[in-house]
Amino acid sequence: MQAPSVGGVMLPRGNGETIRLSRGASLTDFAEKINANPASLVAVMMNLGEMVTATQSVSDETLQLLADEMNYNVQIVSPEEEDRELLESFDIEFGEDEGSEEDLVVRPPVVTVMGHVDHGKTRLLDAIRKTNVIAGEAGGITQHIGAYQVTTEVNGDDRKITFIDTPGHEAFTAMRARGAKSTDIAILVVAANDGVMPQTIEALNHAKAADVPIVVAVNKIDVEGADPTKVRGQLTEYGLVAEEYGGDTMFVDISAKQGLNIDSLLEAVILTADATLDLRANPNQDAQGIAIESRLDRGRGAVATVLVQRGTLRVGDTMVVGDAYGRVRAMLDDNGNNVAEAGPSTPVQVLGLTNVPGAGDNFIVVEEDRTARQIAEKRAARERNAAFAKRTRRVSLEDLDKVLKAGEVQQLNLIIKGDASGSVEALESSLLQLDVGEEVDIRVLHRGVGAVTESDIDLAMGSDAIVIGFNVRAAGRAAQMAEREGVDVRYYSVIYQAIEEIEAALKGMLKPEYEEVELGTAEIREVFKSSKLGNIAGVIIRSGEVRRNAKARLIRDGKVVAENLTIEGLRRFKDDVTEIREGFEGGINLGNFNDIKVDDVIATYELREKPRG
Ligand code: GDP
Repeated sequence: MQAPSVGGVMLPRGNGETIRLSRGASLTDFAEKINANPASLVAVMMNLGEMVTATQSVSDETLQLLADEMNYNVQIVSPEEEDRELLESFDIEFGEDEGSEEDLVVRPPVVTVMGHVDHGKTRLLDAIRKTNVIAGEAGGITQHIGAYQVTTEVNGDDRKITFIDTPGHEAFTAMRARGAKSTDIAILVVAANDGVMPQTIEALNHAKAADVPIVVAVNKIDVEGADPTKVRGQLTEYGLVAEEYGGDTMFVDISAKQGLNIDSLLEAVILTADATLDLRANPNQDAQGIAIESRLDRGRGAVATVLVQRGTLRVGDTMVVGDAYGRVRAMLDDNGNNVAEAGPSTPVQVLGLTNVPGAGDNFIVVEEDRTARQIAEKRAARERNAAFAKRTRRVSLEDLDKVLKAGEVQQLNLIIKGDASGSVEALESSLLQLDVGEEVDIRVLHRGVGAVTESDIDLAMGSDAIVIGFNVRAAGRAAQMAEREGVDVRYYSVIYQAIEEIEAALKGMLKPEYEEVELGTAEIREVFKSSKLGNIAGVIIRSGEVRRNAKARLIRDGKVVAENLTIEGLRRFKDDVTEIREGFEGGINLGNFNDIKVDDVIATYELREKPRG
């Protein structure tokens, strides 16, 4: 095969060497690696039939195609790998404790509560917290910071447990999707009156995939018809065998509502941790950990809750969290008290960051402000690049029929958010009743009252779901995040419209609708003949404006005599212009169409995609 050459210039063809490029790299990045001129790579792509600009971020496939053509072996580096390398270049290693065995001390387990919707996750998290306030720091004003710590007595020792208090596996999955390991133990909540449900299994699978031991809380035992034994039987099928049946999973029967057996549940968590995990960390090093949740506070700026995983975080430390950085101005614990330092497994709210990090972003403490800024800036740039590569992958209603046909999805996953529980339920039940044939199922992964949040988008990302907002909008950063991640969020205010659209999408009939929008009209005052261009209409714009490349029709004596024309040329005096406004004169060339007369009207319009919903 001949080396590709462009304009007679030979390109640096490889010998099968490996080049490493980050996901979402551009041809310029590629060119830099092989010492070529970016423009020549644009030309190569053009020969291959793809129009790409030099700086535009391209897909993995395009990089692969180009590499094949140039005889290189391309290795696309994942964001996690890249981040590891970025930190390495500053001599920082994330995720490992420094020092040796003697430096490690026992740290509390970090627990996430998971389970099917309505099985009592939120109630349980409240109950655990309340029991502890009475027993412990009475009078403390608890505040929600995304995680809290409680103390429980086991075998005469006071033991701490940290709870991540965003229930559901959304948070868990979101963090895992970012490669962050936040959780040591999962509490799987199963309502004893309802038994094992789809999301129970989902949660269980998430925990197993993350290699996280499970403690089962069989909840609502106060309810009539509660059957805790049945729950044990059901979960056996999924590999969770209760200790009393010879297995190694602890099951605790509880009532979150009545605060029953909460202590036993906490004890089970500690016992499970002691039996299966070696939870130790070095408290004497620069702190590292992950962000759990964060928001922008009007008065205090960026407020982020971080979980310290190793080391000790102190006020005054310089930290980088994802693409945010700053010096810790103040730290608050889950009781709203100011604290000066936080050791392993402690959640604290941190003030002083430049912006708001994402849940699951890792944090590190560094010596120099400059290092922090450089790392944060590199990450921000990388995210912008990666955004493009991601954008095309997710499911949207428009392309649903294609992915269904290709067998890529067999079910349409939905997340429904609405302004009231009644409307959410009504919408959900109507959607579930849709008869769309056997090949595809509709599954509602999550429903709730309130705005579409970042956690909804996270869940949608992880499961290729479409988000429906009924009389609600995306809150805070959720809209940007959906846009960046390519998650389809649909807004409706009428139930039947939502139903119609989903049905149409499932049947592959949802085509974008266009409407004609009138732009302007021009009256022909004179016709000039040009040997090169044919007939030119000398016009005066009577209404609106006329733009080059706009669609047009020709009207003579009030009747349309020609359709589907294009304003190919537009001039004012001797200059080519892109638009002419009402009241001004100019020249219009309609391309090959020459049948124009004085007094004809050229009406221009454009097709705009109709907003839905
Ligand atoms: P989540 O969706 O899993 O977070 O569930 P919630 O914590 O919101 O609980 C769903 C419903 O079940 C609420 O109305 C709770 O009050 C109720 N609930 C939770 N735990 C118990 C319990 O132990 N007993 C009874 N009777 N109701 C409970």
